Amino acid sequence: MKVTPSDDGTYFVESSQKEKHYVVDPEEPSCSCPHFTVTMKKKFGWCKHIRAVKDFVEGRDEETYEKIKAVVKEKKGIYLDELSGLFNREAVDDLICKGELREKDGKIISR
Ligand SMILES: [Zn+2]
Repeated sequence: MKVTPSDDGTYFVESSQKEKHYVVDPEEPSCSCPHFTVTMKKKFGWCKHIRAVKDFVEGRDEETYEKIKAVVKEKKGIYLDELSGLFNREAVDDLICKGELREKDGKIISR
């Protein structure tokens, strides 16, 4: 899901149909999608677009994942501390959990 920051602190999130964008305010949180306004707001207080924005803010979006994987590949292994200095540690952990990266001899390497 493509997330684009806007000037006023809200974010545009591309819908799955791609021709639509929803406006997400992660502080409130709120989303302009029908799913959120009709059901999710009362039940859970979030929807997948709000989740996507939070992940984006925390550096846990697809774009960041790709960058992390590119760095690991380029360096042919990198120490976790060094990688955590470049990217959000949570995002690195996500990739390890997903099996896209793994640890070997103290270094993070590609699968
Ligand atoms: Zn939504």
